[in-house]
Amino acid sequence: MEFSFGPVPSRRLGRSLGINNIIPKTCSYSCIYCQLGKTINFTSTRKKFYDPDELVSSVRKRVNELEKNGIIIDYLTFVPDGEPTLDINLENEIRMLKELGIKIAVITNSSLIYDEDVRNALYLANFVSLKVDTVKNDIWKKINVPHRDLNLDKILSGIREFSKNYHGTLATETMLIKGINDNNFDETAKFIGEIRPHTSYISVPTRPPAFDFVKIPDEYKIIEAYETFKRFIDNVQTLTDFEGENFVTLENTLNDILDIISVHPMREDVLLKILSDKGMGLNDLESLINKGLIKKENYGGKIFYIKKFKGFS
Ligand code: SF4
Repeated sequence: MEFSFGPVPSRRLGRSLGINNIIPKTCSYSCIYCQLGKTINFTSTRKKFYDPDELVSSVRKRVNELEKNGIIIDYLTFVPDGEPTLDINLENEIRMLKELGIKIAVITNSSLIYDEDVRNALYLANFVSLKVDTVKNDIWKKINVPHRDLNLDKILSGIREFSKNYHGTLATETMLIKGINDNNFDETAKFIGEIRPHTSYISVPTRPPAFDFVKIPDEYKIIEAYETFKRFIDNVQTLTDFEGENFVTLENTLNDILDIISVHPMREDVLLKILSDKGMGLNDLESLINKGLIKKENYGGKIFYIKKFKGFS
């Protein structure tokens, strides 16, 4: 089984080899903007998903293949199609992967960071990105649609505790959605300012979201958010543009593409460029659609290909 995908170009991490350590669409949130659609396995309970030795040896094999092809990876990034801290073996996996000598990143929704074991796993990573879309309970429920057992105050305390003790590069990510959290940013910006991240990223949904009503805020709202965040936080950056075309596939191009699409919708123009470099084309994408593995979606005037989860249209 493949546990890694890419490398994919990351606006924050350069060339990042993604690691998928949980089963598809398992999450403690069901964010309205999720690029993977609605959460299928909704849980806040940590558990074992895969054998850590198997995961690590699969990642090691992929790293070796990439190195043989002269491809350098900047980060091994836990960014599965769900929430990586639900994996009870995360700490163990990070420890073993560090032996490869490549920096480790974890992109988490922060929902389990109140748990000391989760914090202990994250302390080992070189880069941790914490989701902080809001600090207001009513907006949190609307935008992140949390599992019923979660509590925002406990999460915010966990984030404070983590930020005090973490020695790696701490980032936060705040997704802005039109009409939901694109007003009154002060409290969220103040909270993020207090935990002193290396960088606070403000993002907008650049890929097709779970629900059609989710829209990118007006430009002046993004600027207003940026200005507000700047009052409280030293380094604020907006992630409002396209991440680039620097995806890497090896011999088994279609499989590599499927692995990437399963966690990362891809634009048609980028896919066609990758395929034409390998003597392939639109027909190959259509064969994946006909097999029910991916589907096409129009978003923001572009065509995206996204994973088709079983039982979901
Ligand atoms: S955006 Fe991330 S945290 Fe939110 S539902 Fe999707 S996978 Fe879970």
